Amino acid sequence: MTRESMPAVLGGDPAFPTGLPLVRPTIGDTGRLAHRLESILQSGILTNGAVVRELEEAVAQRLGVPYVLAVSNCTSGLMLMLQALGAQGRVVLPSFTFAASAHAVVWAGGTPVWAEIDPERLTADPSDVRSVIDGAVAMTATHVYGAPCQVDELQAVADEAGVPLVYDSAHALGSTRNGVPVGRFGTAEVFSLSPTKVTVAGEGGLVATSDPGLAEAIRIGRDYGNPGSYDCQFAGLNARMSELHAAVALHSLQGLDERIDYRNELVRLFKENVDGLDGISFQRVDPDDVSTYKDLTLIVEPDQFGLDIPQLTAALNAEGIDSRRYYSPAIHQQKAYAHLQRERDLPITERIADRVITLPLWSHMSADDVASIASAVCRIAATAGQVRDTLR
Ligand SMILES: *Cc1c(COP(=O)(O)O)cnc(C)c1O
Repeated sequence: MTRESMPAVLGGDPAFPTGLPLVRPTIGDTGRLAHRLESILQSGILTNGAVVRELEEAVAQRLGVPYVLAVSNCTSGLMLMLQALGAQGRVVLPSFTFAASAHAVVWAGGTPVWAEIDPERLTADPSDVRSVIDGAVAMTATHVYGAPCQVDELQAVADEAGVPLVYDSAHALGSTRNGVPVGRFGTAEVFSLSPTKVTVAGEGGLVATSDPGLAEAIRIGRDYGNPGSYDCQFAGLNARMSELHAAVALHSLQGLDERIDYRNELVRLFKENVDGLDGISFQRVDPDDVSTYKDLTLIVEPDQFGLDIPQLTAALNAEGIDSRRYYSPAIHQQKAYAHLQRERDLPITERIADRVITLPLWSHMSADDVASIASAVCRIAATAGQVRDTLR
């Protein structure tokens, strides 16, 4: 075997000697943004002012939703929405998502009840949600990695049960389901603008809803519960967005569709380059849907691929390729939720959590870098037996 065909873990040259990080926010030209930030600083109005309003209007227009409220982050948006819905009881949600989805339920006074995911889509399985919805006061679901949920099926379950459906849409600003923008579904959808997402504010979130009462509850709730009279209506949060963050978000919103197209192109390229490898599959995204591909995640079947996720992670590390296990452990497997009584096992969630690995992908990454990651994965796969022995 030549040195070129050896993975780094077996002594070959690393694919990225200086390292390739998982995520890099794409900020683009900062000249105009810097100018805007400067004028905000000079204006004396630093939070929740005209720039925040401009962001809210721009996103409402884009999504075709009557109300969009900017908040300090997605987690606080989910907390305030669940509080506004009075979700102080059983709240059904998938365990295969980011922990903040469940934390928001707990902070709002609810108790998570776990639902399984669809093993191909990796989003909430509507029939499994139906099987645990009895007695629930609300349900939430996540558009995992930007792939839209089965929104019609989930809405049917919510309607039958008479409970609100809130989407954790942290990954999915710019995603569409059958041509309809994510943001228009359920009772409300909450986006994140944190630095690992495709649109960034630094820190920030956006709540989208068509319910005027809920919009008002968020508007008051993000300001401590104070409607402006100083007579607080309920125990709210400080979940305001600053003008500076809103300016960064407005800047980041430009070119979003182009970034999503490019990410889809990079994912296609990656799939082409690992085509034929045994034991690797990808999340299903329906042909009429658009995913932001906030993450490029592989599902690796260890028996067929020849390595499990910790072994593949070690081999990728040797190449200088950063990776994460999104989402492993699943939330119900984490210490914070170990005390919850579980009525049943979650075999699909646990099987998927054991098999996922997220590889670097960002909106200004070169096609060459994606091809290099793919060929590193191929070199590792071709020598899986030796890699296993080396790591033992
Ligand atoms: C990032 C993320 C959040 C949290 O978003 P913040 O804006 O950091 O609060 C919530 N849910 C999911 C699925 C996420 O990926």
